[in-house]
Amino acid sequence: MTERRRISILGATGSIGQNTIDLIARDPEAYDVVALTGGRNVARLAHDAARLGAEVAVTAHDDQLPALRDALAGTGVEAAAGEAALIEAARRPADWVMSAIVGAAGLAPGLAALEGGAKLALANKESMVCAGALVMATARASGGSVIPVDSEHSAVFQALLGEDISAVERVVITASGGAFRDWPLEKLAGATPEEAATHPNWDMGQRITIDSASMFNKALELIETREFFGLEPGQIEAVVHPESMIHALVGFCDGGLMAHVGPPDMRHAIGFALHYPERRPVPVERLDLVRLGQLTFRPADEARWPALRLAREVMETGGLAGAVFNAAKERALDAFIERRIGFLEMAAVVERVLERMSAEGGLHLDTVTLDKVRQADDLARRAADEAIG
Ligand code: NDP
Repeated sequence: MTERRRISILGATGSIGQNTIDLIARDPEAYDVVALTGGRNVARLAHDAARLGAEVAVTAHDDQLPALRDALAGTGVEAAAGEAALIEAARRPADWVMSAIVGAAGLAPGLAALEGGAKLALANKESMVCAGALVMATARASGGSVIPVDSEHSAVFQALLGEDISAVERVVITASGGAFRDWPLEKLAGATPEEAATHPNWDMGQRITIDSASMFNKALELIETREFFGLEPGQIEAVVHPESMIHALVGFCDGGLMAHVGPPDMRHAIGFALHYPERRPVPVERLDLVRLGQLTFRPADEARWPALRLAREVMETGGLAGAVFNAAKERALDAFIERRIGFLEMAAVVERVLERMSAEGGLHLDTVTLDKVRQADDLARRAADEAIG
């Protein structure tokens, strides 16, 4: 009999968190759930924590604690709230931790889980964008490890199994093109948050879906690829692939390309990370290649999607540029969702913040620490708010 594994899910109430719960709830004998964390959706958090028999449920928001306590009364699940409680829960000994909080808020809890020596399944791409070197160094120091969950990075990771990274010439990550891939350029300025939050292929959280339409999501993923696999910016490219069946391709020095093909269902990448280094059955659709017929590709046009050009600059700059880029993007996205700026203004705001902080010398740094990332994040948010006006 295999031993039960202790697992925690950070961001359990979100899209990735719920897909993770879907997988583990199918095999309740295999797992002991340590911590589930969420934000404002305390009803869902309490429901899942009770049915999975979690040790502790944590909401990120102090004002939600009374509601969480009420919902968990009589279940035996401990309730807690706030950032310190979240970090304490993430640090509780666990074999496997899913990092699926959205945004830079996911960095500190993910690092705490790694410090506890866990295998960290990383969906929170912002962690790698803001502090990739720190995440990897923390894993090395604690004996923990990081397994990518973003579908593109899981695809690259899988294509690299048994390969030598020095034989890699290039990595191509694919982009669906998001909600506006076929819109005429002149219509984009008037795009609404509701229109941007509709994805042609993937069913995801609101913020990442809008980031797909603006390609900020792909921009983050380009940076994440550099950080995860230690590649040079010139070795990484994005291509539009409207069918979202190939997630990434790895090109080797002998001219061969290894492509990872699978249905657009995050449970594949989550299941891979959950069972790695083994492969176990995962309940996703099996592709019918004949019915699929053809797979198509288009250039990822940097004039249509300026976020891709900015990502290239961030990769070249390194240091704190990723943290600044992400923080400015998060504020610009908030402003777009609240209808304070238009769709195209998001990239303009981020570019202005990068230029300003670069001119002030605020991007360069030899060793990235959590404190430095937090400071840069804070300054970039303030600069973005000023740019938004
Ligand atoms: P969702 O918005 O669906 O869920 C986000 C989760 O984070 C929720 O549990 C939410 O709680 C919680 N949360 C929100 N704000 C905070 C905060 N300040 N502190 C602590 N917890 C917070 O996001 P997704 O599941 O779509 O994405 C999660 C991460 O995974 C992101 O980094 C995303 O880029 C990445 N990712 C997502 C994919 C997808 O298919 N969805 C694919 C690949 C990567 P609540 O809802 O209760 O407020």
